[in-house]
Amino acid sequence: MSATNNLIDAYAAVRAKSAAWYRRASAVLGGNVGHDLRYFEPMPLYIERGRAGRKWDVDGNEYIDFLIGNGALLLGHAHPAVIDAIASAASRGTHFGNDHPLQIEWAELIQKLVPAAERVRFVNSGTEASQLALRLARAFTGKSKLLRFEGHFHGWHDDAVHGFQLPFEADGSRGVPPNVRDNLITIPDGNITLVEEVLSENQEVAAVILEPSGASYGRVPIDIEFLRGLREVTARRGVLLIFDEVVTGFRFSPGGAQGLYGITPDLSYFAKVVAGGLPGGAVVGRRDIMSLFNQTGDPQQDRFERVTHFGTFNASPLSAAAGIAVLTQVASGEATGRADAMASQLRAAFNDVLSRQQIAGYAYGPSSTFHVYFETNPERLKRASDRQDLKTTDARLLKGMPGTLITQYQRLLRFHGVDIMSSTGGLLSAAHTERDIEDATVAFERTVTALLDEQLIYRL
Ligand code: PMP
Repeated sequence: MSATNNLIDAYAAVRAKSAAWYRRASAVLGGNVGHDLRYFEPMPLYIERGRAGRKWDVDGNEYIDFLIGNGALLLGHAHPAVIDAIASAASRGTHFGNDHPLQIEWAELIQKLVPAAERVRFVNSGTEASQLALRLARAFTGKSKLLRFEGHFHGWHDDAVHGFQLPFEADGSRGVPPNVRDNLITIPDGNITLVEEVLSENQEVAAVILEPSGASYGRVPIDIEFLRGLREVTARRGVLLIFDEVVTGFRFSPGGAQGLYGITPDLSYFAKVVAGGLPGGAVVGRRDIMSLFNQTGDPQQDRFERVTHFGTFNASPLSAAAGIAVLTQVASGEATGRADAMASQLRAAFNDVLSRQQIAGYAYGPSSTFHVYFETNPERLKRASDRQDLKTTDARLLKGMPGTLITQYQRLLRFHGVDIMSSTGGLLSAAHTERDIEDATVAFERTVTALLDEQLIYRL
């Protein structure tokens, strides 16, 4: 029996209740799970509760949590200030369909923290925020095309679903009308001359959009000089620059990546941390662009002049309460600083393991994130004499690690009590502790040792 089958059996043996839930899920859920990334064999995780940097599944298995609510939980699970804020808001009613004071306090906090946030408009998710930002950009410029970068993720809606997963040229999903592609230009990031060329050949570009961390919250590292170049080129050409700060927002710094790098986009959008672990998102930007939402009171005229935006649950009182609780703590800088420090310890500890075992791989990542890259390409392995030689910013390489390796890595980590975000990386929170780092490093060492044995990864 193969090592993979042995692991699957051992994994399933301590997940009898999870297996039962998976059987029930398979008879009721479309695709058996609630999010493509939750699909997992032999069964997805069914989590019952979380506290700080850890969570427990229905079988009582404990995980150090580097998924941490898909990055939403900067303060960790069940932070008392957040729970109190939600409970207090809920006791007054969960939803009104009207505006309410908490929405305004929430927006004021965002405006104070985020350089680009002259005005704020709330939505319910990162995907909705991305859709709305693109609509604003098209309305403001009167142009339709978007320039985006290979590997960068901007939600699952039609305009964003092509180009973030390999092969970048192929459709990202079935069911998207073919003409959507006509408005998308997808190129590798990092080359400002190429951006200039594309923009001068395509006068119809409304906006350039990207993850300011680099693709997949920094898995494909990006040069800050490239971000500066984008700011300069787009400003000169009258093309809007949009930062997708869904992950980086209130994490890379209290003012997001734009606060950290000192580069202010025309529009940007947030989700995850902004709503304190509840559903929510925000589009923010220049006052003149955001004035496209303004109404005159004359419905006839308004229909032709403005950007339309509805949404039953926009700025839900519960999300606002949770968002305020978290952003108030973010404002001091302590939460982001603590999460950054923990991630830096984790990356160092993982690199120590990789270096001791002479594994062809390294751990890296900006701010409170980490990613692990394992070199599996025989040519590159032969040429590399040092782990540093493996470093690259090539999205095709970094996103092209073999699927069998990624699945087995994730399965082994879970087996040893660590859950990660996707592929080989994850995010930390201010609630993670030194003990979490130590325990995760032991799990990581067991994982890479097994991967070496299975010849899924290699020594230099
Ligand atoms: N942009 C980025 C950079 C993201 O990471 C995500 C979610 N992982 C989204 C947009 C979409 O956000 P949501 O899942 O809230 O729709």
